[in-house]
Amino acid sequence: MKRREMPFAAGATVSVLGLGVSGTAAARLAAARGAVVYASDAFAGVEQKAAVDALSAEGISAEAGRHDMDRILDSDLVVVSPGISPFSEVRQEISARGIRTIAEVELAYGTLSSRVIGITGTNGKTTTTQLTATLLRESGTSAVAGGNIGHPLSWTAMEEEQPDWVVVELSSFQLADLESFHVDIGVLLNLAPDHLDRYRDLQAYYRDKQRLFAAGDDDTAWVLNADDPFVLDLANSIAEEAFLFSLNDPVKRGGWLSADGVLVGNIDGTEERWLPEAELPLLGSHNVANALAASISARLAGCPADAVGSGLRVPSDLPHRLESAGEVAGVLWINDSKATNVAAATAAVRAFDRPIIMMLGGRHKGEPYASIAEAGSDRLKAVVAFGEAAPKILAELDGAVPHIAVENGMDAAVRAARHQAVSGDVVLFSPACSSFDMYPNYEVRGEAFVRAVQSLSTVEDRS
Ligand code: ADP
Repeated sequence: MKRREMPFAAGATVSVLGLGVSGTAAARLAAARGAVVYASDAFAGVEQKAAVDALSAEGISAEAGRHDMDRILDSDLVVVSPGISPFSEVRQEISARGIRTIAEVELAYGTLSSRVIGITGTNGKTTTTQLTATLLRESGTSAVAGGNIGHPLSWTAMEEEQPDWVVVELSSFQLADLESFHVDIGVLLNLAPDHLDRYRDLQAYYRDKQRLFAAGDDDTAWVLNADDPFVLDLANSIAEEAFLFSLNDPVKRGGWLSADGVLVGNIDGTEERWLPEAELPLLGSHNVANALAASISARLAGCPADAVGSGLRVPSDLPHRLESAGEVAGVLWINDSKATNVAAATAAVRAFDRPIIMMLGGRHKGEPYASIAEAGSDRLKAVVAFGEAAPKILAELDGAVPHIAVENGMDAAVRAARHQAVSGDVVLFSPACSSFDMYPNYEVRGEAFVRAVQSLSTVEDRS
């Protein structure tokens, strides 16, 4: 298959916003394809400074700690990393000038020859993206998981040998910056309130998600969540022709969880029994939904029916997503730091049928917390609220859960959770908020939680 067109002419000036892995990769790709590149980041942390050093050594102009607006506003094209909000000040200035702005995945797409599976939704994108790529690879098809998942698509674009398929996680921000990016298979997993701190309202967030459909054409196969009325509503007439997945009912074509607990599919008119739910290594029914979406996508991309079950059994490497942080004195500690919205925390509560002590907090993003208490009404023993959002969580959940405590700092919050827990309970660190009040990202927050749990176990070992 032939490579596509680069989105700029040789010699064009290209600015790259953001010096994380994606921005750094985009800067290298644009430079390798003949652009005059300037890359910058408003932050000057260790990662950004290292990126500046590395890019400068390669002759690419880069700086951390500021954006040279004169230079950016003078460019032919601006490439934005996935983490940069369309509502950031720098983006507002660029769009006021009418400068063409594209996502990093769009830049990479211009130089890729692989076919594309694009996956979006409020939650489960990383899990489903990784699962789909695993299913394809396990069945002998070359596939790379990329996009907003720690492996920028620009890396794949710079490789000589390209995989048959790239499976791309697409956030709403990235979708907003797509132009000619085309998906052969498009997946919309679910929709729930998120990023209300950044979008004007929920409709504006959903409208960006809807842009997935603009990245397809008549030949695109769509995979949609039949249990989510917002997804079906957004897909509109596309839903009639789509492959659907459901945890509740069989679908005409797609995949579902059967009454006897088996992930079942029907892709081309024949029923296929993929895997008993009990054998799926991932926890919770939300992950059954993710696995169904991944299985349908992989089947459509050429994975044979009889290879789905073994692919689904391969353990995923998904840190900070319902990951065990250890068991201390019979209490299971779960690190779900990636649960940065209420829908993800609610799914986490549903994944456990034992008594739960829930740790909630961080930077409030605008969503009400009541659904967490409702989902756990029969087993939520206590909530420990921490961080900036703690007073709000206290105000909204006081009286809705048997016990609620407010603590300052990770160590104190972990100790308070330990105080509430008895053998057989689970302590669920599924914060429902962003990490930015106390940490640079959810990974650092998750690591701090795991360290606090480990120091707890050291103390208990000694006693
Ligand atoms: P994303 O890439 O969309 O953020 P992840 O796979 O990284 O999704 O998971 C993020 C969080 O959402 C985790 O806490 C995970 O347990 C939870 N989650 C994953 N899939 C779903 C789903 N289908 N519905 C609700 N929550 C989910």
